[in-house]
Amino acid sequence: MLNRRSFLGTGAAAGLGATAGNAVAKVPPSIHRHVTLGKTGLNVSEIGFGSASSQDAALVRHALDRGVTFFDTAESYRFGWSEEAMGEGLKGVRDQVILSSKTKAGAADSEAEMMEALEGSLRRLQTDYLDIYFNHAVNSVDRMQNEAWARFTERAAAQGKIRFRGMSGHGSRLAQCLDYAIDNDLVDVVLCAYSFGEDPDLYAKLRHTFHFVAIQSDLPPVLDKARAKNIGVIAMKTLMGARLNDMRPFEEGGRTYAQAALRWVLSSPRVDAALISMTSLDTIDEYVGASGQEEERAEDIDLLGRYAALQSARYCRHGCNKCEGACPEGVAIAEVLRTRMYDVDYRNPALAVEDYAKLGGGAQACLTCEHQACTNSCPFGIPVPEFTTDAARRLG
Ligand code: SF4
Ligand code: SF4
Repeated sequence: MLNRRSFLGTGAAAGLGATAGNAVAKVPPSIHRHVTLGKTGLNVSEIGFGSASSQDAALVRHALDRGVTFFDTAESYRFGWSEEAMGEGLKGVRDQVILSSKTKAGAADSEAEMMEALEGSLRRLQTDYLDIYFNHAVNSVDRMQNEAWARFTERAAAQGKIRFRGMSGHGSRLAQCLDYAIDNDLVDVVLCAYSFGEDPDLYAKLRHTFHFVAIQSDLPPVLDKARAKNIGVIAMKTLMGARLNDMRPFEEGGRTYAQAALRWVLSSPRVDAALISMTSLDTIDEYVGASGQEEERAEDIDLLGRYAALQSARYCRHGCNKCEGACPEGVAIAEVLRTRMYDVDYRNPALAVEDYAKLGGGAQACLTCEHQACTNSCPFGIPVPEFTTDAARRLG
């Protein structure tokens, strides 16, 4: 019997199939493996459709054609248009997929406000229920401590509007927030930023080929705790900044960096499934092409190592925050750099501007800062004052 770590696909040959005679024709890639999200029992395609950067029903339908059965959105993505597009794309097949959405329930929000947000999502998605409802982008424990969230999720489940509850996060206090939610049995599923860049196992393998300062991430032990409690674990931000074009010159034999990054995270014993932003027909095919390939490959390690070497001094690690307190003016450096990444690397200026605006003063102090006390505050060599000032110019 095959388990979640079994090699299911004809992965090496994905995308190739024999036709009459000796001719070989391309066949579309498709999902080769489905996984169970811990104790929820929800069965999903191991690669799911993330919609933070899209609002296009045609993309949703293309992913369906490729075998994707897990779709995720949020009320805040594209001001609700992502939910509307997803509702449109899933018309007629809603009961055949697993659908999740999210709301940013605050520390002082009431049950009534949360219910109103959920009902708005259901309306836009043209559905009666969500399989998973996440408290979105949690980066302070007090949001999970709000008892209204626990009461609301219970009531929504009793009314059949949600099946399971979760927490999503990618901020500097991710590990701390997850830890609280897991210890207090507030989640059935977690969705968190996790890539090969956060995995100490990769750096151990790379030590002989590249020189790296490996992150001492708090995340792996927290994810291990989630696994021990049979909480479903979904990874996002799996591409460590998603600068795919930087890697094209090094990709050979149809094997891409993005596929290597997805394979790495999907083969991790800490992770059940991965959600990834699907923004074009071509990238959907590229990502889906990583499905069903679990065996570790030297070529993948080489691509991941090369990417890490290229990006190490420009990629701000999720959940790191080692520069916390380096700015006497109170600039939240890690949060500012995350919004800059949305603009520069993800090419999603709407999301970048929206999230930057939520940071209060953001990095505006950097525009007139003379002391630049944050210089050298990043052990990975990120030029912090240069990047924060750039964020202030772009997004302020
Ligand atoms: S700037 Fe450097 S130290 Fe600060 S959070 Fe990002 S990676 Fe960590
Ligand atoms: S440049 Fe100045 S204001 Fe900006 S983060 Fe660094 S120390 Fe703070």
